[in-house]
Amino acid sequence: MSRKIVILGTGGTIAGTGPAGSGSYTAAQLTAEQLVGSIPALQNAAGGGLLVQEVARIDSKDMTHAVWQWLAQRCLAHLADGTVGGIVITHGTDTLEETAWLLHELLPADKPVVLTCAMRPATALSPDGPQNLLDAVTLAAHPEAHGVLVVAAGVVHGAREVTKVHPQRLDAFASPDGGPLGWVQGGEVRWAHATAPQPAAPRCGALLLEPAFMAPQWPRVEIILSHAGSDGALVDWLVAGGVRGIVVAATGNGTLHEALQAALRRAVSAGVTVRLASRCGEGRISPVTDQPWRDAGGLSPVKARISLMLELMQASDSFGARPDGLSG
Ligand code: ASP
Repeated sequence: MSRKIVILGTGGTIAGTGPAGSGSYTAAQLTAEQLVGSIPALQNAAGGGLLVQEVARIDSKDMTHAVWQWLAQRCLAHLADGTVGGIVITHGTDTLEETAWLLHELLPADKPVVLTCAMRPATALSPDGPQNLLDAVTLAAHPEAHGVLVVAAGVVHGAREVTKVHPQRLDAFASPDGGPLGWVQGGEVRWAHATAPQPAAPRCGALLLEPAFMAPQWPRVEIILSHAGSDGALVDWLVAGGVRGIVVAATGNGTLHEALQAALRRAVSAGVTVRLASRCGEGRISPVTDQPWRDAGGLSPVKARISLMLELMQASDSFGARPDGLSG
């Protein structure tokens, strides 16, 4: 028997409205029920029926840790329900890749959790949201789909690679290096490789049940960019303010302005965990072996920040050690 698909609304341009024919709109105006109700084809694609819930109604540029806490807990509860076959999350495009990565780090991967979005509001002459949502439900109902996926403009992306690469065009997402996982075309899912990607256990799954995850404050982790003229003053300021972790978006293959590097060494001495990502949009930096910090394992700076927050939460809860094994 087909299982139902849960649609969790969070807002975004897909639920945005504006004056007909005008380029302006406000994100996150339609309720999840209004959005889903405007697309009758979703019921057929779901097979076993739809359950629609609104988790938040925000422009995703304003995403908060509190919404993430609630969203992750709702997903966990639905995934544990034997009558649910998969989850679709409607989301703004701006921080979609961050939410996807957070959920990938936390949720069991045996059922699909599919994020989708739109670049045009629901009131546009030709909105992209309805097709994206239909594709997302099709993907979530597919028997081989599992784990956290993103579908936009007919392309299926994995949570690790997906990134917004364009501020305007409908096909605004890419999976640099790895490429897409597949496509949804004419109501059919086509995987890019011979088989669907295999499920893997989430790295931080146990954290969802720990008090640190639901705490009102998450460990403060900030992103700093290395650039011409960097002087490290921002790092010193953050350390003085009690930052717990810093992700550096380094130049090229993990290189840092010497003044910034000196400030980061001071931060590590003060007990701050530092991770090195690259500000290049593609590729992976060589492993770091000669510094008191690690590289971010090929994650973009925004995803590295999420992983470091989760690791710091684990370290502060029942798990013990500092995430990078350093003392202090
Ligand atoms: N600012 C919007 C959001 O992220 C943009 C979008 O959805 O395309 O919610």
